[in-house]
Amino acid sequence: MYIGSQFKFILIILFLLFVALVFILIDDSKKDFKQTQQEIKLTFPKNNHNFTQIPIESRIKIKSGDSLYSFLKELDIRENLINKIILDDNLKEFSRFRIDETLLVRTDSKTIRIIKYRGKQLPVILEINSDSYFIFSDPSLFQKYVFFKEFKITDSLYQSGINANVPDVILADLIYIFGWDIDFAFDIREGDSVKILYEDTYFNGNFLFNGDILAAEFINNGEEISAIRFSQKGRKDYYAKDSSNIRKAFLKTPIEFAKISSHYNLKRKHPVLNTIRAHKGTDYAAKKGTPVKVTGDGVVTRADYSESYGNIIDVLHFNTYTTRYAHLNNFSNNIKVGAKVLQGDVIGYVGSTGLATGPHLHYEFHINGKHTNPVNIKPTNAAPINSYNLANFNKIVNERSKLIDNLSNNE
Ligand SMILES: [Zn+2]
Repeated sequence: MYIGSQFKFILIILFLLFVALVFILIDDSKKDFKQTQQEIKLTFPKNNHNFTQIPIESRIKIKSGDSLYSFLKELDIRENLINKIILDDNLKEFSRFRIDETLLVRTDSKTIRIIKYRGKQLPVILEINSDSYFIFSDPSLFQKYVFFKEFKITDSLYQSGINANVPDVILADLIYIFGWDIDFAFDIREGDSVKILYEDTYFNGNFLFNGDILAAEFINNGEEISAIRFSQKGRKDYYAKDSSNIRKAFLKTPIEFAKISSHYNLKRKHPVLNTIRAHKGTDYAAKKGTPVKVTGDGVVTRADYSESYGNIIDVLHFNTYTTRYAHLNNFSNNIKVGAKVLQGDVIGYVGSTGLATGPHLHYEFHINGKHTNPVNIKPTNAAPINSYNLANFNKIVNERSKLIDNLSNNE
């Protein structure tokens, strides 16, 4: 009897553990789907702000040859403390300087703070006291301020934006965001206008860098196109008010500013073989070493060498599409079969391996295994806001639209 009830007890415990495990697994599979952005509180700068003053802080752009060592030496830090810092494993990343990084140095009588930042990433701070140091990255030390700008397009979008004091980085983002649907060289009409809400990051009142566009409205040929920033599954994207993604599932071209040197042509004479052989792709002329971007999110299904294609990469997208990149000079690190790639990732570099007369990229687009002319495809939009995020997204759309309405002149 006693043994029997103990057995039942163990069975119940095992059953409960099993149920718990099932719940954990289910929840885990939903995690990716559920990942959403944190609530952002929008803060506008006060009217009497003075952001241009830089008192004891100085901003230093990293030049080639600069190192943390030479830098600390210049700050008159004791040699043995410098050596400790240089050899610290936790500072490995910090001490790796890159040309596109900026350092901000702030000193007072007791401490030196070196703030290192790159692009829109959260800056990292190295604080050095007389005989100790520590490294940290604390978002609360940085202020994000929201700015609103609106302008009418009189000549080019870029020039009109510059005239309205919109930072060029923000304009470049704006052109990128709306560039999926608008050709800025041809589609702009007199009287088109733009409203942008964007945020900049400051440290102690000092401007550090331009951040993201939070929302933008573009009146193009009398039609309003809106873009709202939202993070879903850990990825920042811009969505229309109806929750569709503004981004397309595929980039127009795998190389920026590339010229097509040979079109898709089923009856082409092959330049090397000199026989009629279908050209089932598009060739882009580019210098050897030009970065090649994967045109959509996907998984690498092939990354090897073939006699005709040379170094070749195939990427499978959404189980339906395959894109092919051939004659590459070399692959990027991490590119191998099974590697996950995100749209715009550089996967390799232009070359002339295989049967090629000169450096170019041969790009193919297959739908369900069938060759398709890459130039003719009308790519679908990337994934819309999913059901889990929809309520939160709609709330943000309402807030941002109201804000833009209140801030704009609306003449
Ligand atoms: Zn080709």
